[in-house]
Amino acid sequence: MKFSLCERQFSLFVAAFITQLAACGGTTPGPDLGPVPPGIIESVLPPIPSVRGPIRLTVEYPDSLQRITVSDSNFVFGTVGTGDATLIINGHFVDVNPNGSFLAFLPVPEAEAGDTASYQLLARRGDEVDTLRHPFLLPEIPFKGEPGTVWIDPASLDDLPIRWAIPGELLEFTVRATPAAEVWLDAGSERYSMIETEVAGVYRFAMEAEAFYRVACAPEDCTWSTEADSLRLGVRAILTDSTARGTIVAPLRILDPSNLPAAVLREPDEPAGGADGLINARPALTGPYRWLLANGTRVTLDGRVGNRWRIRLTPELEAWVLEDDLELLPQGSSQPRSKVGDLRFEVLPDRLVMRASFAAALPISVSEPDDHTLELTMFGATGVTNRIREGAGGRLIDRVEWEQLPGERYRLRIHFVERVWGYRSSWTVLPTGRAHLQFEIRRPPAIDSVSPLRGRRIAIDPGHPGAGAHGPTGYYEGDANLAIGRILARLVREAGGEPVLIRDDTLSMGLYERTQLAIEARAEIFVSIHNNALPDGLRPVGREGTSAYYYHPHSHSLAVAVQQGMLSSLRLRDLGVFWGDLAVTRMSWMPAILTEGAFMMIPSHEAALRTSRFQERYARGILNGIEEFLREVAWDQGSHP
Ligand SMILES: [Zn+2]
Repeated sequence: MKFSLCERQFSLFVAAFITQLAACGGTTPGPDLGPVPPGIIESVLPPIPSVRGPIRLTVEYPDSLQRITVSDSNFVFGTVGTGDATLIINGHFVDVNPNGSFLAFLPVPEAEAGDTASYQLLARRGDEVDTLRHPFLLPEIPFKGEPGTVWIDPASLDDLPIRWAIPGELLEFTVRATPAAEVWLDAGSERYSMIETEVAGVYRFAMEAEAFYRVACAPEDCTWSTEADSLRLGVRAILTDSTARGTIVAPLRILDPSNLPAAVLREPDEPAGGADGLINARPALTGPYRWLLANGTRVTLDGRVGNRWRIRLTPELEAWVLEDDLELLPQGSSQPRSKVGDLRFEVLPDRLVMRASFAAALPISVSEPDDHTLELTMFGATGVTNRIREGAGGRLIDRVEWEQLPGERYRLRIHFVERVWGYRSSWTVLPTGRAHLQFEIRRPPAIDSVSPLRGRRIAIDPGHPGAGAHGPTGYYEGDANLAIGRILARLVREAGGEPVLIRDDTLSMGLYERTQLAIEARAEIFVSIHNNALPDGLRPVGREGTSAYYYHPHSHSLAVAVQQGMLSSLRLRDLGVFWGDLAVTRMSWMPAILTEGAFMMIPSHEAALRTSRFQERYARGILNGIEEFLREVAWDQGSHP
């Protein structure tokens, strides 16, 4: 299953200030790029084997009472138990494969009661008949009032998450009510008209935070303290003569911009999935991560929505982190600011280490403008750098430069002679707050151009459990991935390499536990093996195929080479290489990719994945890709003796 990292995802709901946390489960929809034209690479899958036995109806997807996310058409798959029966689901004839599996894409049936619907399956072979009623849940239906009455959706009036804002920032409230009504927001002695948005029945009002607070907070209730004050706001929807009323409770605190709170970013003690020493931050309240900040980083906070906190990196740049990832410092603690003095690099056999000392552990973002360059941006930093020592013992740095940018940003650009293999940073923070940065840049290993895998340490991560997809006959993705991983480990060993098999049993393992194991084992490459599934609502046929994912630019050429290796070996459709915000590929210490060789849900793929021959083809495809990538690196090294 794709996007296996089960991160809490936000669903933007109509309530003011925003949202509720959706439970994590099921597949996060992948990018819908539409069906790929067939025939790019002709598939040569083994034929689906023939299975004869009693009729035994099983639905693998959707799970019993699982809530699906679409209401028009969706896929349903499972098995009849035998290849010689016919199958009808909700009146539609469905093809049964020789092994009894089926995959249908059908209109979603109407609700039977509440939000429950069901698939009615009927299998027949001669006089032998089996039936199955398989219930599942339809997408939640938004509240609808009685026809002819005026209403306000109670869900849109739920108490709002606590919010911190700075003066000047816009506060927005939305509610759902009868379309085409007149909707008012009553705050203190003022009333404000809420305007219906382009979505019928959704009304919006926005106002500058501090002015709104002054109006909405009764003088006796307003504390202006370090706590949030609960604003009670009235909502009225009026249609002709009738009125619906509701109340919103909105906890709000206006921050003093001259004395913003400070915090230290810290991983929770025992984070789910393991610890990796990094705090992930995103540019928006929801969405992918774009900054990986080292444990101990000190930050300025200037906003909060529920358990999401807003970091101020520069006056124009914000980042969002989770409450669990930070520790508030006492009010009045200083903001992260520092001069950046001299820098020094030390050359070690396998890495370069840069060390520098700061008044505080500043937020630092790292980017890779090209294969040989790293760019560090330090926020809250002023450059007084007189000297940068490139390090003795071998020329590894081509040149380095620094510049001061607006918004107290210091940028260091390091151009390396060799390509960037990986990097990581860590802070040592003294009780005084002073902090020492250690930034390590990993050198590529010396590759044997004749036997590129000789001596190379390859981390092989069979994806799942937890989570993971199932095929129509119940084959579990975690088992398929493990079988392929074990073969790949053997192939790596046969090629002279040292495999590090991250999981060799069927026990659940956290995503960061996997990457940390690879780092501890001093692996040089990380490959996570998966098999894909589609999100609800997509017609599967024509969308199945092979893909590879990467996150950091220094992993891209590995992803491309392994994708090519898998295509040549598996001969499935080319879905291409994807950039993807996946936990295991965010690890930056070595090139790290994730493969989605085939699709669990496609009957012919599932049947193939059960065979050791196809598993071997998958493993060999990855191996050939790694070898090709290493050859490329060896060529690089040849041209830079
Ligand atoms: Zn998976």
